[in-house]
Amino acid sequence: MSQDWPSWLPLRGNLRELSAYGAPQLPADAVLNTNENPYAPSPELAQAIAARVLTIASTLNRYPDRDALALRTKLAEFVNNLSATSFTSKNIWAANGSNEIIQSLFLAFGGGSAIGFTPSYSMHPLIARVCQVAWTNGSRRADYSLDIDSAVAQIQSSKPSLTFITTPNNPTGSAVTLEEIEKLAINTPGLLVVDEAYAEFSDEASAVTLIEKYPHVVVIRTMSKAFSFAGARVGYLVAHPSVIDAMFLVRLPYHLSALTQAAAEVALDFSTELLATVDQLRSARNQMAQELEELGLTVLPSSANFLLFAGFEQSSPELWQALLDRGVLIRDVGLLGYLRVTIGNVAENKKFIDSLSACLGVEI
Ligand SMILES: *Cc1c(COP(=O)(O)O)cnc(C)c1O
Repeated sequence: MSQDWPSWLPLRGNLRELSAYGAPQLPADAVLNTNENPYAPSPELAQAIAARVLTIASTLNRYPDRDALALRTKLAEFVNNLSATSFTSKNIWAANGSNEIIQSLFLAFGGGSAIGFTPSYSMHPLIARVCQVAWTNGSRRADYSLDIDSAVAQIQSSKPSLTFITTPNNPTGSAVTLEEIEKLAINTPGLLVVDEAYAEFSDEASAVTLIEKYPHVVVIRTMSKAFSFAGARVGYLVAHPSVIDAMFLVRLPYHLSALTQAAAEVALDFSTELLATVDQLRSARNQMAQELEELGLTVLPSSANFLLFAGFEQSSPELWQALLDRGVLIRDVGLLGYLRVTIGNVAENKKFIDSLSACLGVEI
């Protein structure tokens, strides 16, 4: 599916066969394809952000705080409240979404190779490629769960400088335990990067609690998923201060706009409100898993805000299109026979289940 680039274009050779990241952004009644939180910020929060933006607007002739110190301090407090840790701003890096964090990690630490265990977050290998970091596709069990002993063996044979673990994993939804992450930490050279984009939906303790003992464990978090703030583009890294110091080397000057910093600071003051929908989404997830099974489908166990399911007769692209024709946009993650659905609000979930039963020809 790669593009035919004109011959005069000096595009780097390793980019020629790539396609751009493209979860379709299509109009639909139920948008359940990018794992966003379906619940919008409250009018009170919107007002508070608008008020802060109004004060910031009159200072936009000046560059923002290059080091985003106020925001990083607030993020440290937020993490400490959730995980009973004692981080300071020196342990936190903030960026335009966790994707920028991932890119900065490759830029700073990608002198050697990197490994991840597929299927997992497709942007890890893609950003590695863009940053010219050699990537190894590690393997999982046939049911897509992670075999820790096998993972350790794969890490030890490929000797990466960066090892990526996504927990709960996207697109499968499964989480690895803290003991398993610790086992990986003990056996991993370089940095162990734990991508916790969906951590708030899981019962497992966060890997941030391992950083004090294992300074090469670095944890990526985001405000885009549970935190209901995807549009603002804020991701953050929790790590040993030496890791954070390296982020200063590779960041672009003033990379995080004054507007982004201000909006995120206000949102963190409303974190109780913003995370209030997590329990609701978790129970909606469990209910939807049960409904999918009642439709005769197989559902992978999920600790996140999405479900990966299989067992339908159509091909994945066929069922994806049939659902879209009925106004329901979900995700074909490129795994033969599987589709992924994000947990939406009550009406969206009902619309999805009703449309799916119609597509499958099952009465409910
Ligand atoms: C969604 C997602 C991210 C990226 O989120 P940002 O919006 O860039 O913060 C990172 N990792 C995983 C596993 C994700 O699913």
